[in-house]
Amino acid sequence: MQHVVLVGLGHAHLYVGSRAAQFRREGLRLTLIDDGEFWYSSIGSGMLGGRYERADDVIDAEAFATRHGIDFIKGRAVSIDRTARDVVLGDGTRVPYDFLSLNVGSHVSPPFSISGDGIWSPKPISDLLQLREDLKGRFQRGDRVRWITVGGNHSGCELTLNAMALARAEGGNLDAALVSADVDLIGNEPVGARKAMRNVLEAAGCRVMCDTYVNAIEEKVLTLADSSEMPFDVAMVATGLQPSALVTACELDHNESGLIVTSYLQSPDDDRIFAVGDCASIRGYNLPKVGVFGVRASPVLTENLMARAADEPLRAYKPQKIWFAALNLGDGTGLASWGSVWWRGKSALALKDWNDRRFMELYR
Ligand SMILES: Cc1cc2nc3c(=O)[nH]c(=O)nc-3n(C[C@H](O)[C@H](O)[C@H](O)COP(=O)(O)OP(=O)(O)OC[C@H]3O[C@@H](n4cnc5c(N)ncnc54)[C@H](O)[C@@H]3O)c2cc1C
Repeated sequence: MQHVVLVGLGHAHLYVGSRAAQFRREGLRLTLIDDGEFWYSSIGSGMLGGRYERADDVIDAEAFATRHGIDFIKGRAVSIDRTARDVVLGDGTRVPYDFLSLNVGSHVSPPFSISGDGIWSPKPISDLLQLREDLKGRFQRGDRVRWITVGGNHSGCELTLNAMALARAEGGNLDAALVSADVDLIGNEPVGARKAMRNVLEAAGCRVMCDTYVNAIEEKVLTLADSSEMPFDVAMVATGLQPSALVTACELDHNESGLIVTSYLQSPDDDRIFAVGDCASIRGYNLPKVGVFGVRASPVLTENLMARAADEPLRAYKPQKIWFAALNLGDGTGLASWGSVWWRGKSALALKDWNDRRFMELYR
């Protein structure tokens, strides 16, 4: 039996894994390696704000694998030995493969030095729950919390608004500021949506500072490029997502966006290795790191893994040019966009909520 190994239970591998019966029919054995849980980023900010609970946001990887009859190995892949065709785990375990698929996601690595405590980032999503409890404790003690977000893109804005929502719900005192090096918030959205986001943040009482560079975050003080200092209790560093460190450890061609793959989602250096989602960089495209691309690529990945094992032609994945994006503004409304069309209101949040819950129900 040829052995297909999936590393990381990301968005695309949820789909691939749910097709395990099809792999078995093709005479393929499927193994999933994951460090424990899939967390759905789309509702991470809402979890911080108190709208969602842990159970809404998480899928246990072992339970998922068992349900689909997939072999499961709990662990963190640290390198790939391509000569031996082994995935090497943190504890030294080696998992042999015939074909390998990587869906290991991304992390935040800011372009300035950080040290000290009180510093958080949007990933891992599970930390947002810990942050919620941390904030609640401070609010209950009556502390005034000085919150600074660094980064004015989707996750930075959404997390700020949801932290403010939590403070309102808990009767807490949160002083929020958002600092961004970009001239505008949520830069790739239509102009009207960008203005609306700024208005929503300012109306909620957040100080928005665009075109402002951070030099360092050290010991509860954020230093700006002009040397001015902003003391804080909580700093949320949302400066963008970088591909998982496993990408560099693979010793395959990669760039700052991820492991380079062709439109077949296959490494041009090693046709037994596939990659998808935030850890991959599809040749000829410069895609933002959003989960929707992994979701849409997953049927193509499934077909291609089976086709490669059978030595049949592969299918090309063509990323869509526009996609649905929706942000939870923490006040019962959302800001949604589809290409150049955008709107704000309860319906935008309701649509996001329906979409997100449906996705989680599919794989739970
Ligand atoms: C706050 C926030 C909100 C967001 N909202 C949205 C949104 O509304 N819509 C949207 O489309 N995108 C959103 N994004 C972007 C989205 O998070 C990413 O694009 C998406 O998570 C990438 O999915 P993925 O499948 O590549 O990896 P992930 O979903 O991150 O999955 C990677 C998996 O691999 C596992 N793993 C990682 N490394 C290893 C290893 N070495 N060995 C074994 N297992 C490993 C992890 O535990 C995890 O289970 C948001 C991001 C943030 C931070």
